[in-house]
Amino acid sequence: MELKIFVDRLKEGSIEKLEGEVPPDFLEVGDQDLKCTSPVKLKGQAYIATDHLLIQLHIETKISMPCSICNGPTEIKINIPDFTQVEPLSEIRSSIFDYTDLVREDILLSLPQFIECHEGKCPERDLIKNYLKKEEKAKKPASEEAVHFPFSDL
Ligand SMILES: [Zn+2]
Repeated sequence: MELKIFVDRLKEGSIEKLEGEVPPDFLEVGDQDLKCTSPVKLKGQAYIATDHLLIQLHIETKISMPCSICNGPTEIKINIPDFTQVEPLSEIRSSIFDYTDLVREDILLSLPQFIECHEGKCPERDLIKNYLKKEEKAKKPASEEAVHFPFSDL
C-alpha cells in the first residue's frame, strides 16, 4: 500500500477507503535499536470537506526498542486508533498527497518513554535495586572516614 492520496480524484463528498499494509522497513530511522517488527496495518478513510483533505486512520504495528533497564530488545504493540490529518487543499501543491512521513512521525511519537522487557518483569530490575542499596550503604563509611582523617597515620 502506498501512503498517497490522489487528491484530484477525490471530489467533495466522496470517501476513499484506505486499507492495507506497508512493510516493516517503513520505519527506517537509522537506529538499529529501534525498528518495526511487523507490517504497519492501516485502515481508515480520506475525504474532502470544505477545502480540506481529511485523513483518518487506525494504525497498528509492532516495534522493537531497547528495554529501559537492561537495554535488551523489547517488542511492544503500537495501536493508534485515531490518527487524523487535516490538510488545507491550498497547501497541497501536487495532485498527490504523500502522508508517509505523517504516519511515521505519529508512530514515533506514540512510543513510550519507559519500557521494560518480559512484560514489565525485566530480569535486571532486581540487580539494579541491589546495586542502588549497596551504593547507599557504601556512602556511610566513606563519610566516617573523612571525619577520622584517614591519612593522619602516615
Ligand atoms: Zn530488561
